[in-house]
Amino acid sequence: MTGEIIYGNELAANLREEMKQEVEQLKQKNITPSLTVILIGDDPASQSYVRGKQKASDKVGVDSELILLPESTTQQELVDRITKLNQDESVHGILVQLPLPNHIDEQVIIETIDPNKDVDGFHPVNIGRMMTGKDTFYPCTPYGIITMLKSKNIEIAGKHAVIVGRSNIVGKPVGQLLLNENATVTYCHSKTKDMKQYTRDADIVIVAVGKMHFITGDDIKDGAVVIDVGINRKEDGKLTGDVEFESAQQKASYITPVPKGVGPMTITMLLHNTIKSAKKYHDIL
Ligand code: NDP
Repeated sequence: MTGEIIYGNELAANLREEMKQEVEQLKQKNITPSLTVILIGDDPASQSYVRGKQKASDKVGVDSELILLPESTTQQELVDRITKLNQDESVHGILVQLPLPNHIDEQVIIETIDPNKDVDGFHPVNIGRMMTGKDTFYPCTPYGIITMLKSKNIEIAGKHAVIVGRSNIVGKPVGQLLLNENATVTYCHSKTKDMKQYTRDADIVIVAVGKMHFITGDDIKDGAVVIDVGINRKEDGKLTGDVEFESAQQKASYITPVPKGVGPMTITMLLHNTIKSAKKYHDIL
């Protein structure tokens, strides 16, 4: 079997085209979805992610503002900035680019953002709403993954989904969203014993570990759906995933590549959440 590749970049392009039209219609009603991104410090990876978010916003017509703050910004200064944005009626989405400098408590910052503007979906209120199966802002990478599965009409209900990695931004929420779709979910992590027994039983394997080629074809069963979230840089500078693509594709029914897989979907779902926030604010959802 050679698994069909799910190209996140193509799906993302289609979705962004639809969003662009939706934003045009909103603008005719004098509503312009707007996203404010706060970036602290000069980490090159964070700068590049933020640039990507701004470029994508511009393309679909979402207003994006970037607030650049120095590494020396105090926690209180950041809280004050966010509080002002919470009160600003023209701002629909607020995103603080993570990671933050060590002297700032990430959780305090996440909890300062108004849950109604939390387009990253990290606020405990939104996580709680997701856990109880309510409509909310879902975290972007997990939501992008579910959207990819649905785009191929891949059945989720009743399937065994194994998540490798349990971070708060990817592993845990993607498992929750799959559970909401009636999958049977197993989480694997660094303390899991004999991980292969789980991954080899999985109908859907989601890999979010951050270790190059951590999962190979030998770890999965024939016909499995394989979603590779990992982003790793090879010695030659090129990006690669947590899954050894060639061997896994030989067994998978569907597989996502890196790059052009999950990555482009993450930003797309951020735009989706921002547009949704604008519509909610103006009571047109
Ligand atoms: P984290 O480092 O926060 O989490 C990694 C997870 O992997 C942890 O739960 C850890 O377990 C688990 N893990 C580590 N080693 C092992 C092991 N030997 N066996 C089993 N599990 C293990 O990473 P993130 O979730 O933030 O990111 C994961 C990857 O996805 C990274 O490459 C990141 O760059 C990428 N990413 C991609 C995005 C995209 O848009 N495509 C978005 C976000 C992330 P434990 O909890 O026990 O420590």
